Amino acid sequence: MHFNTKVIHGGISEDETTGAVSVPIYQTSTYKQNALGQPKQYEYSRSGNPTRFAVEELIADLEEGAQGFAFASGLAATHAVFSLFQTGDHVILGDDVYGGTFRLLHQVLEKSGLTYSLVKTDDLAAIEAAILPETKAIFLETPTNPLLKITDIAIVAQLAKKQDILTIVDNTFATPYFQKPLQLGADIVIHSATKYLGGHSDVVAGLAVAKELQIAKRIAFLQNAIGGVLGPHDSWLIQRSIKTLALRMEAHQNNAMKIAHYLQAHPAVAKVYYPGLIDHEGHEIAKSQMSGYSGMISFELTDETKTAGFVEALKIFTLAESLGGVESLVEVPAVMTHASIPKEIRQQSGIKDGLIRLSVGIEDGEDLQADLEQAFEKAGN
Ligand SMILES: *Cc1c(COP(=O)(O)O)cnc(C)c1O
Repeated sequence: MHFNTKVIHGGISEDETTGAVSVPIYQTSTYKQNALGQPKQYEYSRSGNPTRFAVEELIADLEEGAQGFAFASGLAATHAVFSLFQTGDHVILGDDVYGGTFRLLHQVLEKSGLTYSLVKTDDLAAIEAAILPETKAIFLETPTNPLLKITDIAIVAQLAKKQDILTIVDNTFATPYFQKPLQLGADIVIHSATKYLGGHSDVVAGLAVAKELQIAKRIAFLQNAIGGVLGPHDSWLIQRSIKTLALRMEAHQNNAMKIAHYLQAHPAVAKVYYPGLIDHEGHEIAKSQMSGYSGMISFELTDETKTAGFVEALKIFTLAESLGGVESLVEVPAVMTHASIPKEIRQQSGIKDGLIRLSVGIEDGEDLQADLEQAFEKAGN
């Protein structure tokens, strides 16, 4: 089945008992047992719910893994996956992963004895140098947030596998429409489904998919034991949104490609980060492991002092955190999404205070470009 068909007919796409073509929202916490100690398929909705199961089956199909899991947020999914490890274990963490992922390791999990090293995951020698006898996993994003750095998933996974280390990829920015980390050798994929999979900026959700059943069973245990599950209504919203994922991702990428070229040619812009640009570092790897470049762009103005004036002058691009919705958003990572990362670490990673990040939506591309143009003029660029 092709991906465009799978988003609609994959997983569990209808209700067997009634024939409803939209999966019903099973808004129930518990299930009747007909005989003592003999529950039917479901017992209690933290352990399993049919609407949640539908979206879990769907993401497993799309990522081509053994089993999927839905959580109350991307960070809840990340937390459950990191709970595979214990005191004394060490993980390698990409140096510009999502700010909340860094905070989870740095301020929560480190307290319970999990150690980590921040590493540039696009540098294989740096990964090799960071591997310790107690290293259990490499956690990376590609493209990264917000600098859109590219890591060769297959090469990292190959290196990890040799030493019995798990490769975990946060696939939020690419989605399975453009990139399938499990097919490239990764063991676990994580999503903030709040972003492109949800796609409409109306739900917070997380998904995880394990390639092998053995790891899937451990995540299933943790999902139930920790309990950060996605509710039935939000599960339904994500499943509904995924039906248009292919259409939306094409539109995001078309607009983003045009805007990246427009920005690159603009005299007020010092640097543009977009994996689809041929001079983007990592473009060749992106081209080989992705089927498209998604809708995220970052850039720097030649005059950093004009950053605030520029982002505040935008009218269609809304100044807000988050990304991946149908509407275009703009933000300044150093002040907003990445403010929880200490300044020195941010600067070491190349995230300048004036870096601007765009989540390019699916509005008309000419309107988006005109909005940028009027903001450049208004901010005096
Ligand atoms: C937003 C985001 C997360 C965290 O997801 P939540 O749903 O906000 O908990 C993780 N990784 C990336 C790349 C993100 O953009």
